[in-house]
Amino acid sequence: MQKKYIMEKTSKIYIAGHRGMVGSAILRTLQKEGFNNFVLRSSQELDLRNQQAVADFFQQEKPEYVFLAAAKVGGILANNTFRADFLYENLCIQNNVIHQCYVNGVKKMLFLGSSCIYPKLAPQPLKEEYLLSGFLESTNEPYAIAKIAGIKMCEAYRTQYNCNFISAMPTNLYGENDNYDLQKSHVLPALIRKFVEAKQENKPFVEVWGTGSPMREFLNAEDLGNACYFLMQNYDESEFINVGCGEEISIKNLALLVKELVDYKGELHWDTSKPDGTPRKLMDNSKLQKLGWTPKITLRDGIKAILESKFKIQAP
Ligand code: GDP
Repeated sequence: MQKKYIMEKTSKIYIAGHRGMVGSAILRTLQKEGFNNFVLRSSQELDLRNQQAVADFFQQEKPEYVFLAAAKVGGILANNTFRADFLYENLCIQNNVIHQCYVNGVKKMLFLGSSCIYPKLAPQPLKEEYLLSGFLESTNEPYAIAKIAGIKMCEAYRTQYNCNFISAMPTNLYGENDNYDLQKSHVLPALIRKFVEAKQENKPFVEVWGTGSPMREFLNAEDLGNACYFLMQNYDESEFINVGCGEEISIKNLALLVKELVDYKGELHWDTSKPDGTPRKLMDNSKLQKLGWTPKITLRDGIKAILESKFKIQAP
Protein backbone atom coordinates (compact mmCIF):
# COMPACT_ATOMS: atom_id res chain seq x y z
CA MET A 1 0.00 0.00 0.00
CA GLN A 2 1.17 3.52 -0.80
CA LYS A 3 1.59 5.82 2.18
CA LYS A 4 -0.79 8.76 2.37
CA TYR A 5 0.92 12.09 2.64
CA ILE A 6 -0.52 15.57 2.98
CA MET A 7 1.55 18.57 1.95
CA GLU A 8 2.54 20.82 4.86
CA LYS A 9 3.00 24.57 4.34
CA THR A 10 6.78 24.07 4.56
CA SER A 11 6.94 20.92 2.39
CA LYS A 12 9.40 21.17 -0.46
CA ILE A 13 7.37 21.31 -3.66
CA TYR A 14 8.66 21.09 -7.22
CA ILE A 15 6.35 22.33 -9.96
CA ALA A 16 7.74 21.22 -13.33
CA GLY A 17 6.53 23.76 -15.89
CA HIS A 18 5.81 26.58 -13.44
CA ARG A 19 5.96 29.21 -16.20
CA GLY A 20 3.32 27.52 -18.32
CA MET A 21 -0.42 28.06 -18.08
CA VAL A 22 -1.06 25.04 -15.84
CA GLY A 23 2.10 25.16 -13.73
CA SER A 24 1.74 28.88 -13.02
CA ALA A 25 -1.88 28.34 -11.96
CA ILE A 26 -0.80 25.58 -9.57
CA LEU A 27 1.90 27.87 -8.17
CA ARG A 28 -0.58 30.73 -7.63
CA THR A 29 -3.02 28.39 -5.87
CA LEU A 30 -0.36 27.00 -3.56
CA GLN A 31 1.03 30.47 -2.78
CA LYS A 32 -2.48 31.68 -1.91
CA GLU A 33 -2.86 28.68 0.39
CA GLY A 34 0.33 29.65 2.23
CA PHE A 35 2.84 27.13 0.88
CA ASN A 36 6.28 28.68 0.80
CA ASN A 37 8.97 26.14 0.01
CA PHE A 38 9.10 25.82 -3.75
CA VAL A 39 11.86 24.57 -5.97
CA LEU A 40 11.41 25.99 -9.47
CA ARG A 41 13.45 25.88 -12.67
CA SER A 42 12.73 27.49 -16.00
CA SER A 43 13.30 25.39 -19.12
CA GLN A 44 16.50 27.39 -19.73
CA GLU A 45 17.77 26.43 -16.28
CA LEU A 46 16.77 22.78 -16.49
CA ASP A 47 16.07 20.95 -19.74
CA LEU A 48 13.66 18.23 -18.66
CA ARG A 49 14.40 16.27 -21.84
CA ASN A 50 17.94 15.74 -20.56
CA GLN A 51 18.07 12.58 -18.49
CA GLN A 52 21.30 13.38 -16.64
CA ALA A 53 20.30 16.96 -15.90
CA VAL A 54 16.99 15.79 -14.39
CA ALA A 55 18.75 13.11 -12.33
CA ASP A 56 21.26 15.67 -10.97
CA PHE A 57 18.51 18.15 -10.17
CA PHE A 58 16.44 15.65 -8.18
CA GLN A 59 19.46 14.38 -6.30
CA GLN A 60 20.47 17.90 -5.32
CA GLU A 61 17.07 19.29 -4.46
CA LYS A 62 15.19 16.23 -3.14
CA PRO A 63 11.68 17.64 -3.51
CA GLU A 64 8.98 15.99 -1.39
CA TYR A 65 6.03 16.68 -3.69
CA VAL A 66 6.05 17.05 -7.46
CA PHE A 67 3.48 18.48 -9.87
CA LEU A 68 4.40 17.40 -13.42
CA ALA A 69 2.88 20.21 -15.49
CA ALA A 70 5.74 20.52 -17.99
CA ALA A 71 4.94 19.38 -21.51
CA LYS A 72 5.23 20.35 -25.12
CA VAL A 73 1.70 21.53 -25.87
CA GLY A 74 -0.15 23.18 -28.72
CA GLY A 75 -3.34 23.43 -30.70
CA ILE A 76 -4.63 21.23 -33.46
CA LEU A 77 -2.24 22.51 -36.17
CA ALA A 78 0.90 22.34 -34.02
CA ASN A 79 0.02 18.83 -32.82
CA ASN A 80 -0.61 17.67 -36.34
CA THR A 81 2.52 19.30 -37.80
CA PHE A 82 5.21 18.61 -35.19
CA ARG A 83 4.15 15.02 -34.64
CA ALA A 84 7.62 13.66 -33.92
CA ASP A 85 8.48 16.48 -31.50
CA PHE A 86 5.25 16.07 -29.55
CA LEU A 87 5.87 12.36 -29.09
CA TYR A 88 9.61 12.50 -28.41
CA GLU A 89 9.75 15.54 -26.15
CA ASN A 90 6.77 14.60 -24.02
CA LEU A 91 7.99 11.04 -23.54
CA CYS A 92 11.44 12.33 -22.54
CA ILE A 93 10.10 14.90 -20.07
CA GLN A 94 7.72 12.53 -18.32
CA ASN A 95 10.05 9.51 -18.34
CA ASN A 96 12.80 11.56 -16.73
CA VAL A 97 10.66 13.26 -14.11
CA ILE A 98 8.52 10.25 -13.16
CA HIS A 99 11.53 7.95 -12.89
CA GLN A 100 13.51 10.43 -10.78
CA CYS A 101 10.51 10.88 -8.47
CA TYR A 102 10.79 7.16 -7.81
CA VAL A 103 14.61 7.11 -7.49
CA ASN A 104 14.58 10.02 -5.04
CA GLY A 105 11.68 8.87 -2.89
CA VAL A 106 9.26 11.70 -3.72
CA LYS A 107 6.30 11.35 -1.35
CA LYS A 108 3.67 12.09 -3.95
CA MET A 109 3.58 13.11 -7.60
CA LEU A 110 0.75 14.41 -9.76
CA PHE A 111 1.02 13.85 -13.51
CA LEU A 112 -1.07 15.98 -15.85
CA GLY A 113 -2.50 14.56 -19.05
CA SER A 114 -5.22 15.63 -21.44
CA SER A 115 -8.70 14.72 -22.64
CA CYS A 116 -7.21 13.72 -26.02
CA ILE A 117 -6.19 10.37 -24.46
CA TYR A 118 -9.72 9.11 -25.13
CA PRO A 119 -10.78 7.31 -28.31
CA LYS A 120 -12.04 9.63 -31.02
CA LEU A 121 -15.50 8.08 -31.08
CA ALA A 122 -15.89 7.16 -27.42
CA PRO A 123 -19.37 7.62 -25.89
CA GLN A 124 -19.92 11.02 -24.27
CA PRO A 125 -19.42 12.18 -21.60
CA LEU A 126 -16.01 10.54 -21.39
CA LYS A 127 -15.64 8.23 -18.42
CA GLU A 128 -12.21 7.25 -17.14
CA GLU A 129 -12.90 3.60 -18.03
CA TYR A 130 -13.06 4.41 -21.78
CA LEU A 131 -9.27 4.71 -21.99
CA LEU A 132 -7.84 2.39 -24.68
CA SER A 133 -11.26 1.23 -25.86
CA GLY A 134 -10.85 2.50 -29.44
CA PHE A 135 -8.78 4.39 -32.00
CA LEU A 136 -7.44 7.86 -31.19
CA GLU A 137 -8.10 11.10 -33.07
CA SER A 138 -5.29 11.32 -35.60
CA THR A 139 -4.45 15.07 -35.36
CA ASN A 140 -3.16 14.68 -31.81
CA GLU A 141 -2.34 10.98 -31.67
CA PRO A 142 1.38 11.49 -30.86
CA TYR A 143 0.59 13.76 -27.91
CA ALA A 144 -2.14 11.38 -26.71
CA ILE A 145 0.16 8.35 -26.94
CA ALA A 146 2.75 10.16 -24.81
CA LYS A 147 0.13 11.09 -22.21
CA ILE A 148 -1.25 7.54 -22.13
CA ALA A 149 2.30 6.30 -21.55
CA GLY A 150 2.55 8.76 -18.64
CA ILE A 151 -0.64 7.43 -17.07
CA LYS A 152 0.61 3.88 -17.44
CA MET A 153 3.98 4.80 -15.94
CA CYS A 154 2.30 6.22 -12.85
CA GLU A 155 0.23 3.06 -12.52
CA ALA A 156 3.24 0.79 -13.05
CA TYR A 157 5.51 2.59 -10.56
CA ARG A 158 2.65 2.45 -8.08
CA THR A 159 2.18 -1.29 -8.52
CA GLN A 160 5.82 -2.30 -8.73
CA TYR A 161 7.45 0.24 -6.37
CA ASN A 162 4.56 1.47 -4.16
CA CYS A 163 4.98 5.04 -5.39
CA ASN A 164 2.07 7.36 -4.64
CA PHE A 165 1.84 8.73 -8.19
CA ILE A 166 -1.54 10.03 -9.38
CA SER A 167 -2.74 11.35 -12.74
CA ALA A 168 -5.27 14.02 -13.63
CA MET A 169 -6.76 14.49 -17.13
CA PRO A 170 -7.95 18.04 -17.67
CA THR A 171 -10.28 19.03 -20.46
CA ASN A 172 -9.36 21.88 -22.89
CA LEU A 173 -7.86 24.72 -20.86
CA TYR A 174 -7.50 28.48 -21.19
CA GLY A 175 -6.35 31.30 -18.96
CA GLU A 176 -3.34 33.29 -17.84
CA ASN A 177 -0.02 32.53 -19.58
CA ASP A 178 -1.78 30.92 -22.52
CA ASN A 179 -0.12 30.78 -25.95
CA TYR A 180 -1.42 33.38 -28.45
CA ASP A 181 0.70 32.33 -31.44
CA LEU A 182 -1.94 31.82 -34.13
CA GLN A 183 -0.17 28.84 -35.70
CA LYS A 184 0.50 27.00 -32.44
CA SER A 185 -2.22 27.98 -30.01
CA HIS A 186 -5.47 26.34 -29.04
CA VAL A 187 -8.76 27.67 -30.28
CA LEU A 188 -9.77 30.04 -27.48
CA PRO A 189 -6.65 32.23 -27.28
CA ALA A 190 -6.56 32.23 -31.10
CA LEU A 191 -10.15 33.47 -31.32
CA ILE A 192 -9.63 36.11 -28.64
CA ARG A 193 -6.60 37.46 -30.46
CA LYS A 194 -8.23 37.31 -33.89
CA PHE A 195 -11.37 39.16 -32.79
CA VAL A 196 -9.48 41.78 -30.76
CA GLU A 197 -7.15 42.52 -33.69
CA ALA A 198 -9.97 42.51 -36.25
CA LYS A 199 -11.86 45.08 -34.19
CA GLN A 200 -8.79 47.27 -33.70
CA GLU A 201 -7.91 47.12 -37.39
CA ASN A 202 -11.50 47.35 -38.69
CA LYS A 203 -11.18 44.09 -40.60
CA PRO A 204 -14.40 43.01 -42.37
CA PHE A 205 -14.17 39.35 -41.31
CA VAL A 206 -12.41 36.91 -38.99
CA GLU A 207 -11.23 33.55 -40.24
CA VAL A 208 -12.16 30.59 -38.05
CA TRP A 209 -10.86 27.08 -38.71
CA GLY A 210 -12.89 24.01 -39.62
CA THR A 211 -16.68 23.80 -39.87
CA GLY A 212 -17.57 25.16 -36.43
CA SER A 213 -19.50 22.01 -35.55
CA PRO A 214 -17.03 20.31 -33.15
CA MET A 215 -17.99 20.55 -29.50
CA ARG A 216 -15.42 21.41 -26.84
CA GLU A 217 -15.42 21.86 -23.08
CA PHE A 218 -13.32 24.68 -21.58
CA LEU A 219 -11.92 24.87 -18.08
CA ASN A 220 -10.17 27.92 -16.69
CA ALA A 221 -6.58 27.23 -15.64
CA GLU A 222 -7.25 28.77 -12.19
CA ASP A 223 -9.90 26.09 -11.61
CA LEU A 224 -7.44 23.43 -12.73
CA GLY A 225 -4.74 24.79 -10.38
CA ASN A 226 -7.23 24.51 -7.59
CA ALA A 227 -8.21 20.96 -8.64
CA CYS A 228 -4.56 19.88 -8.70
CA TYR A 229 -4.09 21.14 -5.15
CA PHE A 230 -7.29 19.35 -4.09
CA LEU A 231 -6.14 16.07 -5.69
CA MET A 232 -2.68 16.25 -4.16
CA GLN A 233 -4.25 16.54 -0.72
CA ASN A 234 -7.18 14.19 -1.16
CA TYR A 235 -6.70 11.62 -3.91
CA ASP A 236 -4.54 8.51 -3.64
CA GLU A 237 -6.00 6.12 -6.19
CA SER A 238 -4.27 4.34 -9.02
CA GLU A 239 -6.88 5.28 -11.63
CA PHE A 240 -6.44 8.65 -13.28
CA ILE A 241 -9.19 11.19 -12.76
CA ASN A 242 -10.94 13.59 -15.17
CA VAL A 243 -11.00 17.32 -14.48
CA GLY A 244 -13.71 19.15 -16.40
CA CYS A 245 -16.59 21.54 -15.91
CA GLY A 246 -19.28 19.34 -17.48
CA GLU A 247 -20.40 21.93 -20.06
CA GLU A 248 -19.65 21.99 -23.77
CA ILE A 249 -20.04 24.53 -26.53
CA SER A 250 -19.71 24.29 -30.31
CA ILE A 251 -16.77 26.08 -31.92
CA LYS A 252 -19.31 28.19 -33.81
CA ASN A 253 -20.98 29.34 -30.59
CA LEU A 254 -17.61 29.88 -28.98
CA ALA A 255 -16.64 32.17 -31.86
CA LEU A 256 -19.96 34.02 -31.49
CA LEU A 257 -19.39 34.41 -27.74
CA VAL A 258 -15.92 35.91 -28.23
CA LYS A 259 -17.28 38.12 -31.01
CA GLU A 260 -19.99 39.40 -28.67
CA LEU A 261 -17.63 40.03 -25.75
CA VAL A 262 -15.15 41.86 -27.97
CA ASP A 263 -18.06 43.74 -29.57
CA TYR A 264 -16.84 42.96 -33.07
CA LYS A 265 -19.34 43.74 -35.82
CA GLY A 266 -17.77 41.98 -38.82
CA GLU A 267 -18.37 38.50 -40.22
CA LEU A 268 -17.08 34.99 -39.60
CA HIS A 269 -15.42 33.08 -42.45
CA TRP A 270 -14.91 29.35 -42.03
CA ASP A 271 -11.65 27.93 -43.37
CA THR A 272 -12.68 24.32 -43.98
CA SER A 273 -9.24 23.39 -45.28
CA LYS A 274 -8.24 23.28 -41.59
CA PRO A 275 -9.09 20.13 -39.61
CA ASP A 276 -12.03 19.88 -37.20
CA GLY A 277 -10.32 17.31 -35.03
CA THR A 278 -12.35 15.11 -32.77
CA PRO A 279 -16.13 15.79 -32.97
CA ARG A 280 -16.72 15.98 -29.19
CA LYS A 281 -14.75 15.56 -26.00
CA LEU A 282 -16.85 16.23 -22.96
CA MET A 283 -15.43 14.91 -19.74
CA ASP A 284 -17.50 13.00 -17.22
CA ASN A 285 -16.27 14.66 -14.04
CA SER A 286 -18.61 12.89 -11.65
CA LYS A 287 -15.74 11.07 -9.95
CA LEU A 288 -14.07 14.34 -8.98
CA GLN A 289 -17.38 15.94 -8.01
CA LYS A 290 -18.16 13.03 -5.70
CA LEU A 291 -14.89 13.76 -3.92
CA GLY A 292 -16.16 17.29 -3.32
CA TRP A 293 -14.49 19.46 -5.98
CA THR A 294 -16.32 21.72 -8.43
CA PRO A 295 -15.07 24.47 -10.79
CA LYS A 296 -16.01 28.08 -10.04
CA ILE A 297 -15.29 30.15 -13.15
CA THR A 298 -17.86 30.26 -15.97
CA LEU A 299 -16.60 30.44 -19.56
CA ARG A 300 -18.08 33.92 -20.06
CA ASP A 301 -16.46 35.27 -16.88
CA GLY A 302 -13.16 33.58 -17.74
CA ILE A 303 -13.04 35.17 -21.20
CA LYS A 304 -14.03 38.56 -19.75
CA ALA A 305 -11.20 38.34 -17.22
CA ILE A 306 -8.68 37.69 -20.02
CA LEU A 307 -10.02 40.54 -22.13
CA GLU A 308 -9.61 42.86 -19.15
CA SER A 309 -6.22 41.72 -17.89
CA LYS A 310 -4.43 41.01 -21.16
CA PHE A 311 -6.16 43.29 -23.66
CA LYS A 312 -7.53 46.05 -21.39
CA ILE A 313 -11.01 45.56 -22.83
CA GLN A 314 -14.08 45.91 -20.59
CA ALA A 315 -16.56 43.35 -21.89
CA PRO A 316 -20.32 43.68 -21.24
P1 GDP B 1 -8.26 20.32 -30.14
O1 GDP B 1 -9.26 20.47 -29.03
O2 GDP B 1 -7.17 19.37 -29.83
O3 GDP B 1 -8.93 19.99 -31.45
O4 GDP B 1 -7.47 21.70 -30.30
P2 GDP B 1 -7.78 23.22 -30.69
O5 GDP B 1 -8.15 23.98 -29.48
O6 GDP B 1 -6.57 23.69 -31.43
O7 GDP B 1 -8.98 23.22 -31.72
C1 GDP B 1 -10.32 23.00 -31.33
C2 GDP B 1 -11.26 23.25 -32.49
O8 GDP B 1 -11.29 24.65 -32.79
C3 GDP B 1 -10.89 22.55 -33.79
O9 GDP B 1 -12.10 22.07 -34.39
C4 GDP B 1 -10.31 23.68 -34.64
O10 GDP B 1 -10.43 23.46 -36.03
C5 GDP B 1 -11.19 24.85 -34.19
N1 GDP B 1 -10.64 26.18 -34.46
C6 GDP B 1 -11.32 27.20 -35.05
N2 GDP B 1 -10.53 28.28 -35.20
C7 GDP B 1 -9.33 27.96 -34.67
C8 GDP B 1 -8.11 28.68 -34.54
O11 GDP B 1 -7.96 29.83 -34.94
N3 GDP B 1 -7.09 28.03 -33.89
C9 GDP B 1 -7.22 26.76 -33.44
N4 GDP B 1 -6.19 26.19 -32.80
N5 GDP B 1 -8.36 26.05 -33.58
C10 GDP B 1 -9.40 26.63 -34.19
